[in-house]
Amino acid sequence: MLIVMDKSATEAEIAGVVAKIEKLGFTAQPMPGGSRVAIGILRNPGPVDPALFVDLPGVQEAIPVSRPYKLVSREMQREDTVIDLGRGLRIGGGNFVVIAGPCAVESETQALTIARAVQAAGAKIFRGGAFKPRTSPYSYQGLEEEGLKILATVRAETGLPVITEAIDHHSLDLVEEYADLIQIGARNMQNFSLLRRAGQARKPVLLKRGLSATLEEFFMAAEYILSEGNSRVILCERGVRGIGSHARNTLDLAAIPYVKRESHLPIVADPSHAAGRRLLVAPLARGAVAVGADGLMIEVHHDPAHALSDGPQSLYPDQFAALMQDLATLRPGQWS
Ligand code: PEP
Ligand code: MN
Repeated sequence: MLIVMDKSATEAEIAGVVAKIEKLGFTAQPMPGGSRVAIGILRNPGPVDPALFVDLPGVQEAIPVSRPYKLVSREMQREDTVIDLGRGLRIGGGNFVVIAGPCAVESETQALTIARAVQAAGAKIFRGGAFKPRTSPYSYQGLEEEGLKILATVRAETGLPVITEAIDHHSLDLVEEYADLIQIGARNMQNFSLLRRAGQARKPVLLKRGLSATLEEFFMAAEYILSEGNSRVILCERGVRGIGSHARNTLDLAAIPYVKRESHLPIVADPSHAAGRRLLVAPLARGAVAVGADGLMIEVHHDPAHALSDGPQSLYPDQFAALMQDLATLRPGQWS
């Protein structure tokens, strides 16, 4: 249920509605809007009778919310969420952002070389994994805290905000300290305790869709983060398990317009992990932009043949620059 207050509702009337919700044993989530306040009712085990609220002073209407992912859904918030990433950088609501960098941070020289190249081509956020969730325990696992320190150096040298993945509670504490955005990877999309911890974080979260997650499961995962109070969530479509071996995963392009209809949260596409092969990355990136993605996350490496992780899907810097040129013609207008 969403209680929409009158434009002229007073603070006391809003507090009265909140008190009524809490008296019923539910949680009230006031959401200040452009011209009026709405109050969401959370943690109610079943439908709530609108009659309990419509006659309270200051209430305009009580709208039932049918989606189980209440906070994520457009039923609760009609307007797009716009996330302010600082320094004039915004994502969502028409603001388009490209995140680029290597799969993993390997050294300061590697990270800085790539950061300077992607920045020159127009990327606004630098990515690089310090904690790598690898399928094999024998694969490169990342530089851990040393990698985070390198990311902080990259930010200091270039001014680019940095995003990196947290794979568990310990790494999330560290990532929250060093990074500007926290990435929750596909393999952790249903790690519910990690999602709750991300919901308590002070930084925005980029949540990747699980390898075989339905969109409802994806929304419910985001709901975990929002329900803990962190409303700065960016969704990321990174491909789901497909058939055949032509691509590592299947980029679910249909998910992007569907997510945008169902949810107010921004959604970016990661064509690199979907493609698994350099040759497919740029066409998939263009496709994602054409269907309305709010941004892209792309793996780039200056020496992919020697990359410690995901070299085959990493674009060379000049390929990334060419893609950015294409995107500018595909999507003229509001670039962050
Ligand atoms: C990554 O972004 O490097 C990554 C591991 O992605 P995913 O969680 O989508 O596999
Ligand atoms: Mn990768």
